[in-house]
Amino acid sequence: YLYNMVQDLKGNIRVYCRVRPATSPEAQNAIDFIGEDGSVVVQDPFKPQNDGRRVFRFDRVFGPSATQEEVFKDTQPLIRSVMDGYNVCIFAYGQTGSGKTHTMSGPSSGATKELGINYLALNDLFQLSNKREDLIKYEIHVQMVEIYNEQVRDLLAEDTSTTKYPFSSATLKLEIRSCTNDNGLTLPDARMHYVKCPADVLKLMKLGEVNRAVSSTAINNRSSRSHSILTIHVQGKDVSGSVLRSSLHLVDLAGSERVDKTEVTGDALKEAQYINKSLSCLGDVVAALAQKNSYIPYQNSKLTLLLQNSLGGHAKTLMFAHVSPEGDSFGETVTTLKFAQRVS
Ligand code: ADP
Ligand code: MG
Repeated sequence: YLYNMVQDLKGNIRVYCRVRPATSPEAQNAIDFIGEDGSVVVQDPFKPQNDGRRVFRFDRVFGPSATQEEVFKDTQPLIRSVMDGYNVCIFAYGQTGSGKTHTMSGPSSGATKELGINYLALNDLFQLSNKREDLIKYEIHVQMVEIYNEQVRDLLAEDTSTTKYPFSSATLKLEIRSCTNDNGLTLPDARMHYVKCPADVLKLMKLGEVNRAVSSTAINNRSSRSHSILTIHVQGKDVSGSVLRSSLHLVDLAGSERVDKTEVTGDALKEAQYINKSLSCLGDVVAALAQKNSYIPYQNSKLTLLLQNSLGGHAKTLMFAHVSPEGDSFGETVTTLKFAQRVS
């Protein structure tokens, strides 16, 4: 059974665009058209028609009224392929406030409605695992880390709400190591949690959220200045004893907005430079994969290094390009769509 699945492995990169609802009805709208065919037309509301107008095309575009379920439905086949042995990466890209966390986690503050891909994916994996019980025995483990200023920190190590910043060096600097025999298990020191039902997952997601919030009080708005990575490790054993290992990385990226270098200094400038560098490295890697280049520059950032086993080769990648519909976000919207176009 496993042997047959490995036969049709195929590389794959997909890009979806999601436009969040406007925050106020009076806001100038920069989204002119959203097509069934994946096209999105943006128009600078402060410029005459045909001047500030640009057309982009993706695998799919979700408009402001798209529900979490609709978005998940188009993501589900990719997530299910993890159970067949594929490594999968799903990224949420876009400026701060464009809806990345909404797509991946759902509305924050411990909501139980409108949960995002992270929860829906795990829930689906459990269902699939139960359905295939007679054929394959699956075990699912999760890790969750954040990358901030090119340092990796465990978000599920323990409840760190009593620990003050800076964190102890042990939790602050996790080392990325390559374990060639273990698909994607490149953070051996990050706590690995066994999960067997959706309730286990909700508990861990809450812990991750708490641990991430701790740092945001130390450095203003840090959650949008770091990449958070939820990794789901799947191990399956079939009746013949063959073992399949794969992982699903669900990545809520740091805000992609450009920071005006004349306006920030010191730590904020350093932070902005780290984010710039890692996002452009990610763009370089995915673009190189899309063009089927022979050299893929994984080594240039912690993010791409960590995800190396799950980017390229037989792995599948999905990038959500998030945009805000408001006119004053037009510049960032175009930058995001250009980034997404380049990697598709
Ligand atoms: P980001 O993570 O990119 O900074 P958020 O996910 O926090 O952005 O979204 C910013 C705000 O917009 C939040 O209040 C969020 O709940 C809301 N929001 C984002 N996307 C949607 C959506 N598709 N539907 C409804 N509300 C949304
Ligand atoms: Mg966010």
